[in-house]
Formats: sequence, C-alpha cells, structure tokens
Amino acid sequence: MIKELTCICCPMGCSLSAQIENGEVVSVTGNTCIRGENYAKSEVTAPVRTVTTTVISESGRPIPVKTKEPVAKEKIFEAVEQIKKTKVSLPVKMGDVVISNVADTGIDIVATRSVER
Ligand code: SF4
Repeated sequence: MIKELTCICCPMGCSLSAQIENGEVVSVTGNTCIRGENYAKSEVTAPVRTVTTTVISESGRPIPVKTKEPVAKEKIFEAVEQIKKTKVSLPVKMGDVVISNVADTGIDIVATRSVER
C-alpha cells in the first residue's frame, strides 16, 4: 500500500509517497531531505502535531501559547478543550508553563510571549 503525504516540516511542502507493509513504512520517496522520511514514518505510525493557540488570562487578555513538544494527534481536541477552560494569572514570561501535563500527555503548555498585567 502507498500513502501519499505532504511534508509539513518546512515551507517546501514536498509530496511524499510512503510504501507501507504490515503497518510499517518500508520506503519513502519524494522527500528532499531526511526530515521528510522521518515525518512520513511518524505520520503513518504515530502522528503528532505542535499545537499553537492562545489561553485567556484572568483579566481577559489573550496569551499566546504552544505545546512544548508535539502531541499525539488524537489528543489535540482534548488539549485544546483544556486550554480553552484555563484562566492564567498575569504576568507571564515567555517560556513559563501555563498548563502542565495537558490532557494527560506528559507535555506542558508554555507561553510564547511575555504578557504584563
Ligand atoms: S522533505 Fe525536507 S525539504 Fe521537503 S518539505 Fe520536508 S523538510 Fe522540507
């Protein structure tokens, strides 16, 4: 079986063809660099994404945040729901953990910008 993918690791967006046998990627073509091959393997076996969004402070100001590491795709909805329900106290410094272990993934949500009171 061949799975067609678009690499999302850089703006070139290479079109990848991953040959899959018994649930494993046995070869990848169309990639310009090794990152494309690694992306195809991850996407087929355990797809992950970095989530970027905003969390609201107690005063209503939005704070830009992201997952510190990519999270499993099936956990993204749960993570975003938890982020939406969270209110954060200001001030916040860039890199501060605003939610730890989001959606029981073991991954933290961190601020990507400092926000004063
Ligand atoms: S394969 Fe390499 S060059 Fe192509 S989109 Fe992915 S990271 Fe970019």
